[in-house]
Amino acid sequence: MLKKILAPSALILPAIFLGVSSADSADASEGAPAARGAEICRNVDVGVQVLGSGGPIAEGSRAGTSYAVWIDGRAQLLIDAGPGSFIRFGEAGLKVGDLKGIAMSHLHADHSAGLGGILNSGSFERSDEPLLFVGPAAASVFPGAGEFLSALVGRDSGAWRYLGGYLDGGDERRKFEVKEIAANVAENASIPEIDIAHDLTLTAIPVHHGEVPTLAFMVKAKNRVILFASDQSALSSGFDRVTRNLKPDLLIAHHVIPAGEGQPIGLHRPPDEIGKMAASVGPRQLLLSHHMNRSFSRLEESLSMISARYKGPTLIASDGTCVAL
Ligand SMILES: [Zn+2]
Repeated sequence: MLKKILAPSALILPAIFLGVSSADSADASEGAPAARGAEICRNVDVGVQVLGSGGPIAEGSRAGTSYAVWIDGRAQLLIDAGPGSFIRFGEAGLKVGDLKGIAMSHLHADHSAGLGGILNSGSFERSDEPLLFVGPAAASVFPGAGEFLSALVGRDSGAWRYLGGYLDGGDERRKFEVKEIAANVAENASIPEIDIAHDLTLTAIPVHHGEVPTLAFMVKAKNRVILFASDQSALSSGFDRVTRNLKPDLLIAHHVIPAGEGQPIGLHRPPDEIGKMAASVGPRQLLLSHHMNRSFSRLEESLSMISARYKGPTLIASDGTCVAL
């Protein structure tokens, strides 16, 4: 009986102690994983930092999906902004003023609900440089990227209309230049490469993610190629065709479901399909992110299924992870 009472206390006490210790620190982000990751990414030519490695269910300390592409010491491209990415953005010392572009793979909330906080943070900075905003065009029950922004910061009817300068250029705010990409293009359609900055381009590749208009992104940064596969099912044949033998420096795949469980091939690739995708794309290294408890608790099984098909190194993302390229 005594054991039953003492055991939870023993677990709770260190957690309380850590909380107090962190709050008392002069800089709460010091030593945070995203700060340590930023230290690595800041000192390499090109790096990809994971700002959110989690999924849609609030079940731990992972933020929702978000990545930053660092070039020459500055995070210049933000891919997705899931809930919680605001915290990692701050821990990593990122500035909206350094961003040249924001690209949203799709508008599921676990990929986009942190954007408002990040834009609000940016409203404390001054810049007259336009900011590219790339996202899918409207389809099914989802708005297009432009309508999504208007619903957030539109001057007339946006929820946060006080940030309307992001769309009309008022208030000395950076103005978004919105590019919507149809996410249902035919497989033989040409896919435009978008110039974001010097030595930084982005190509949006439509993928199948149930009924959700969704884009994968191929980013070229100083001759490095990074392929963000995004949320996609194994029915993404157009993506498979475009990326076959691409041999990027890094492929980021979303490890959402374990083998034989969760949603079938309608929304996400199960581990053996991630392995097939990696074997087809042929990246120098594979990074698994977008973990959920249901998939992460069976990580070893997933890794063995992936390694049966893909023979390169597989890295496991945490919030803050920097992959130097
Ligand atoms: Zn999704």
